[in-house]
Parts: sequence; C-alpha cells; structure tokens
Amino acid sequence: MKQNRFVRLLCAGLALCLLTACAIQSDKPAPMEPVIVESKPEPVPAESEPVPAEPEPVPAESEPVPAEPEPVPAEPEPVPAEPEPVSVEPEPVSVEPEPVPAEPEPVSVEPKPVPAEPEPVSVEPKPVPAGHSFCVAIDPGHQRKGNSDPEPIGPGASQTKAKVASGTTGRFSGLKEYELTLAVSLLLRDELEARGYQVVMTRADHDVDLSNAQRAQIAADARADVFIRIHANGSDDPSAEGAMTICMTKNSPYCPQLYDESRRLSDLVLDGLTAATGAKKRSVWETDTMSGVNWASMPVTIVEMGFMTNEKEDLLMASADYQQKLACGMADGIDAYFAALN
Ligand SMILES: [Zn+2]
Repeated sequence: MKQNRFVRLLCAGLALCLLTACAIQSDKPAPMEPVIVESKPEPVPAESEPVPAEPEPVPAESEPVPAEPEPVPAEPEPVPAEPEPVSVEPEPVSVEPEPVPAEPEPVSVEPKPVPAEPEPVSVEPKPVPAGHSFCVAIDPGHQRKGNSDPEPIGPGASQTKAKVASGTTGRFSGLKEYELTLAVSLLLRDELEARGYQVVMTRADHDVDLSNAQRAQIAADARADVFIRIHANGSDDPSAEGAMTICMTKNSPYCPQLYDESRRLSDLVLDGLTAATGAKKRSVWETDTMSGVNWASMPVTIVEMGFMTNEKEDLLMASADYQQKLACGMADGIDAYFAALN
C-alpha cells in the first residue's frame, strides 16, 4: 500500500511537472486525468451493502420466536393435566371412606351372632320338654252364671244334666267355686308351662257359657294328651274334708277305652296333690254319672281339691300359698303320669 501510494505521489508529481511544462509551452489540457484515481474508494461502499443485508435474517428469525410461544401455551396443557392426577388422588380418598362404611357391616355382623345366641337358648328349653312335650287341657270348673239347660250326660245318652252347674261357695271365705277353680287353674297352667308343657284352657274368664260337653270338645280340638278338670267339693257335713279325684268306671258306656289311663292319671294327681298340700287323701271315685268325664276323648280326671264347706280347707284354699301348693301338687302328678309313659 505504501509503495502504491508512493507511486501515486510520484506519478502525481510528474504530472504536475508536465502540466507546468505544458502550461509554459502551450495551453493544452492534460489528457491524463487523475480523476480515475479518485474513483477507487467506490468499492468500499460496495462492501457495506452485505452488512445491511445481514439484519434482514434477524427479523426473519424473530418469526420463529413468536412461533415458540405457541409451544409454551402447549405446556400449560400438561399443567391442567396435572390437576387430573390431583383429581385422581381424591378418588383413592373416596376409596378410603368406603372401608369406613365397611366397618359398620361387621357391626351388623356382630348383632347377628346376638340373635344366634337366643337360638341356643330356645334349644336349651327343648331338651327339657323333650320328655314333657305333652299338651294338657285344663278346665276351670263352672262359670259366673250356670246354665241349667239339659245336656246328655254322655255321647248317645238319654239321661241329661244341666249344661253347667252353678257350683258351690266357700262357707267361710265367701269365695265362689268358679273363682277358686280359675285361680288355681291359672297357677297350674303357669306351673305346667314352666315345666315344658303346652297348656290349653277351656276358659280364662268367668263370663263364659260353656257346657261340659263343649269343654271336652275344646280339649279334643286341641288334641290334648290329658284333660284336667278343676273343682272343689261341698257337703252338708262341715267336718267332711280332703281331696279326691273322679274318673269313669271300667265298664263305662261312653269311654271305657280311657279307663286304665284315666284311673292312673286320677291316682297320680291325687297322690301329688295330697303330698304337696298335706290334705287328707279320700279316694278316686269311679262313676259314669259325670258329664265332664263321659264326654272326654282322652285320659281325664276331675279334681275335687277340698271341701269349701269345711272351715279349715275353705280358708286354706282361699290363700295364695295353698293354691300354689295345689297347683304344684297336681303338676307333680301329671309329671308322674307322663314319666311312666316314657
Ligand atoms: Zn264343681
């Protein structure tokens, strides 16, 4: 560069000398114009052009920049996608509350074994009535108002008796026979049920109208194994006392087939009653004049517990304590009757 510049300066000096010489010799313009030399700086501005050309790709790059924000909004999508797994967590939470209601179920399972316990309880009383699964029909003698209408004393009988007599009255206690018989009958019912028997009552109220034949039919309908008819005795002799039972004769025209068992039942009940109460044992009276016996279709006995015309027995039978003894004594006799059958 320095050499070129020196050459240029040298050429310029020579040019000046020539111009001066020429000026002296003539006015001829110099054909060698250095203007051509001055045209050399032009390639410099030519080089500056590619520079402004570079900033153009810059704005071109800015376009993909706005293109990038798009993938950015694309990311927020996976963000809402995360709340989903959040919503997935509450599900296992909802799964936990389920095992909670699952707990009350075992609770409901526990009450089941509870009702299962009463079953073995009901099973326990069964072995007790296993030898006592019999049905006893109890007939509390008489009723508030007797019925004097005639009724055959037995099946096919021409002889009749009042459907139901009025009964006697406690001469000292004032107790009516129908009251006494029901009171003791209810105690006997409770005692027998406690011992595992089934019990059928012909009446549990005073205000009924049941003939002797009808009462026997109630026992028959219940298919009772034995028929116990509860009465109390009376006599013109105030000294008469003691208990007795009644059944048919061996030659009953109505129910001879029931004699053996009815006699045995009558003996055992009388034994049980007198043993429990200390009452005088009179006897088993065999007769075919009793409607309550003749209409029976199962072993039967009429129990005359004592004399309401005897002061001592009347007052004893009016007492709750003695009534309980009467009931227990008769139940003992019934137990003995069925025990012999097993
Ligand atoms: Zn009577």
